[in-house]
Amino acid sequence: MNAEPRSAWVDALVSWYRAHARPFPWRNKVDPYYTWVCEVMSQQTILSVVLPRFEAFIAKLPTVHDLAQCPEPVLRELWAGLGYYARARNLQKGACYIRDVLSCNFPTTYEGWLAVPGCGPYTASVIASICFREPVACVDGNVIRVVSRLLALENDVWSTRGLTRIQEFSNRSIPHEAPGDYNQAVMELGATVCRKQNPRCDVCPVAVRCEARKLDIVEKCPPVKPRPESTDVPLLGLVLSDATTGKIGLLTRRTGFLAGTVGFPLLRLKEAEEMSEVLRRFRTVRDVRQVEFAGEFGHTITRHRIRGRVLTITVSTTEFHLDPQLSDFLGTPRADDWQWLPQGEVSGGLSSSLDSKIWKAGVPSQFQEPRRLTLF
Ligand code: SF4
Repeated sequence: MNAEPRSAWVDALVSWYRAHARPFPWRNKVDPYYTWVCEVMSQQTILSVVLPRFEAFIAKLPTVHDLAQCPEPVLRELWAGLGYYARARNLQKGACYIRDVLSCNFPTTYEGWLAVPGCGPYTASVIASICFREPVACVDGNVIRVVSRLLALENDVWSTRGLTRIQEFSNRSIPHEAPGDYNQAVMELGATVCRKQNPRCDVCPVAVRCEARKLDIVEKCPPVKPRPESTDVPLLGLVLSDATTGKIGLLTRRTGFLAGTVGFPLLRLKEAEEMSEVLRRFRTVRDVRQVEFAGEFGHTITRHRIRGRVLTITVSTTEFHLDPQLSDFLGTPRADDWQWLPQGEVSGGLSSSLDSKIWKAGVPSQFQEPRRLTLF
């Protein structure tokens, strides 16, 4: 990698970071395990949510070995509230690789981290630069915003060409003697000063290097990211209620949509007409006593626009997974994938906001306004 002669703006940026870095617990000591866990937790989750959970996670699983052998229910509990549980499973897969293949020795290079299952270029560059002083530049949303403003990029930022340009600029700028501080400094600047809305240019340590500021086009850099086309997903959420106890069935989803989360059985419908097919099949199932249409909900996950409907289904036994018709209908989950909770405990057992919306619509009718339609 060809580094440019060290620039004054890089010195100013790194000095600013050293004086102003927020005191996060993973910054207390340089430890690849801490850095790795916090990076994975921070993907798609805001820091105020991550902070208390990071400390609880590290207290319970202080080493990569502890993480590798953590039972799934404990891992799930430690991850509650962070969302996207698949990240936790990938983290554990990576921990198993480090335990089994590397005898609990962490990789010490960017390439080595890339070989860890579930670890992508961004996470590998963060860990390699902060913990092993390898000069590999990280590029995330904050870095893209800061660099596009430094270079006054008002067009063509989000294409492969545009992102390559930002990566190459970052690669040239990263100082070999302080790669970790540089990477964290750019990200910190983007998070606290060079913000998307209302950037604080008056206190910015790199204002003299900022082309967008000189040209008065800060608000135009970077340009708005083109949204990927969204897809409509018709979905049916099933709230199963035991006729005898009133307990509600929650399922650990092993595969498919929201794999790894705990919630209600979901049926992805291909066509609107399939609703009648769903009902027709339910009518034939021995263990189903009653089906009610409980309501509708909308939800967006990345580019999936979910149009959901909720059915509350009263079943005569919680052993219905033995009924081949219904098991087939629900995607053949295993018996131990189910848990039956009293209604007051359901909210606490859900791991996604989509499930919370289903539950809001689907609380069994004796506890709700009489606005339901009994289908049979
Ligand atoms: Fe961002 Fe303003 Fe600093 Fe430029 S001067 S990098 S726009 S905060």
